[in-house]
Amino acid sequence: MSDGVAGDAVDGGLGAAGGDAVGRAWSEVVATARRTAAEGLVVGTSGNVSARVGPVVLVTPSGVPYDRLGPGDAVGVDLEGRQVLGTLAPTSEVPLHLAVYRHTSATAVVHTHAVHATAVSTLLDEVPPVHYVTALLGGTVRTAPYARYGTAELAAHMLEALRDRTGCLLRNHGTVTYGDTLDQAYERTAQLEWMCRLWLTAASVPGRSPSLLTPAQLHDVQEALKDYGQRG
Ligand code: 13P
Ligand code: ZN
Repeated sequence: MSDGVAGDAVDGGLGAAGGDAVGRAWSEVVATARRTAAEGLVVGTSGNVSARVGPVVLVTPSGVPYDRLGPGDAVGVDLEGRQVLGTLAPTSEVPLHLAVYRHTSATAVVHTHAVHATAVSTLLDEVPPVHYVTALLGGTVRTAPYARYGTAELAAHMLEALRDRTGCLLRNHGTVTYGDTLDQAYERTAQLEWMCRLWLTAASVPGRSPSLLTPAQLHDVQEALKDYGQRG
C-alpha cells in the first residue's frame, strides 16, 4: 500500500512533534501485527493491534494483510471512535480496543486468535494456574462470555473479564492483552498462549489432572516478579 510517511497533515491534531510520535507508533503497530502472523498467533488478517499516542489510538485496518501495510497507511481514531487519521477503514474491533484505553492506563493492546488459547476458551471459564506465568497477567486469566466480533457487547464482556488482569480469553474467539508498550502487550499474549498450550498438554494425559499453584504461591510470585530481570 502507500509508501509515504504519515506526517503532520494527518497527525490527529497532535502537531509536528506529535506527528513524529504517531509515525513511530504506527511502525511499531505494523511490526507487532506482522509478528502475530509470523509467530503463528493469527492466520491471514485475523486479530488486530493498537497503540495510544495521547488522544489518538492507532489501529490496524480491517481485513488488510499486515505485510501490505506501509508507513503511509496509518489509521487512527479518537477515544470516541471517530476516525482522525488515514483512509483505510479501522479494525472491526475498535470498540474492544477503546474499552481498554477508556478503563485502564494501557498504551498498547494486542488481539489474536492464538490456537491453544482459543481452544481453552471453548472449554473453561478460567485458565487453570498451571504455571507462574499466571502472575504476569495479574492472576488467574478469565474467559469472557461469547458475543459476536466487533460488538459493544463483546467489549463489555471483555472488560469484565479483564478486571485486575492484563489479559483474558474471549470465548470461541481468541485473546486480548494490554500493556505499557506493544512489546509488553505482545509478550503477555505469547505467554498466555504458551500457558494454554501447557495446560492442554498436561490435561490430556488420561487419568491424571495437572497440579495447580495456590493463591498464596501466585501472590509470592507476583512479589518476586517486581525484581525480575535487569535492574534499571
Ligand atoms: P479486523 O480485520 O476487522 O481487525 O478483524 C479481525 C478480528 O480478529 C475480529 O475479531
Ligand atoms: Zn478476532
